[in-house]
Amino acid sequence: MAGSVRELLKDYNYLLERLYKKVPPKSGSGEYEIPEPQVLRIGNQTIIRNFKEISMKLKRDPQLVARYLQKELAAAGKYDPDSGQLVLNVKVSRKVINQFLQMFLRTYVRCPTCGSVDTRLERRGRVWILVCEACGAEQPVKPF
Ligand SMILES: [Zn+2]
Repeated sequence: MAGSVRELLKDYNYLLERLYKKVPPKSGSGEYEIPEPQVLRIGNQTIIRNFKEISMKLKRDPQLVARYLQKELAAAGKYDPDSGQLVLNVKVSRKVINQFLQMFLRTYVRCPTCGSVDTRLERRGRVWILVCEACGAEQPVKPF
């Protein structure tokens, strides 16, 4: 009797040990962070100084992200690849820009199936597809 209890405990400790070893490290979980936009407002223009950095974090061409913001804000703008800055011909707050960037992340970057940001946008004719490299899911998204 005592022998079998000892055996059980041994098994139990063994299982616990295995369980702890299987727990993955915590990195990668939680919210995907994009850099806080550095916004400068001059007259009727708004400059996003770290626009290139933000676009790289979103894993999308800055020209594409720029076009998205221009459409959402109904404003003209110009991305300068040399400085990495985007100039928008509209007065807009950092908070609003941040909201649109988060929306872009949710719609055009994050996989709705598994939550991975390891994705790419594919254009098939008039249709845009968000293709996930992690789980293989394909999701049609609204073109802009
Ligand atoms: Zn996925």
